[in-house]
Amino acid sequence: MEHNCPLNKVQLGYHTWNLLHTMVANYPDEPSPQEQEDVYQFFKLLGRLYPCKECGLDFSLLLTQRPPVTTSQNTLSEWLCFIHNDVNQKIGKSIFDCNRVNERWRDGWNDGSCD
Ligand code: FAD
Repeated sequence: MEHNCPLNKVQLGYHTWNLLHTMVANYPDEPSPQEQEDVYQFFKLLGRLYPCKECGLDFSLLLTQRPPVTTSQNTLSEWLCFIHNDVNQKIGKSIFDCNRVNERWRDGWNDGSCD
């Protein structure tokens, strides 16, 4: 995909979710205390620095209501899926089935369609 123009809100959001879900899909199963602190700070700073002001403000509020569950890859991936669904709900998009989050972002679909 070629981009020669600044990203709009939809493009920025799509690419950011791709990064976030892929990052969390590769988070350790048994993270160290430092890794847990790092990922917690990452999401906190994302809310402050996200280059769509209204999105970042709402995201920061969501983090206070639903703080990151940093104890393992599974808990963090599920948490991010719930957070993304909160945003989906707010803007009228479909809710994603969080039981399938690792299939979507880590392992590939069970039917082999990602091979
Ligand atoms: P996206 O929502 O970008 O999703 C990308 C892909 O992720 C989908 O194709 C799907 O396969 C997968 N997916 C969808 N839901 C989930 C889930 N719950 N868990 C795992 N995978 C999933 N837009 C606004 O208009 N207002 C806002 O306030 C706003 N806040 C945002 C806050 C953040 C932190 C981010 C990253 C984005 C925000 N956006 C906001 C953008 C919005 O969420 C979408 O990214 C954008 O509308 C593009 O939507 P999309 O249909 O391409 O799919």
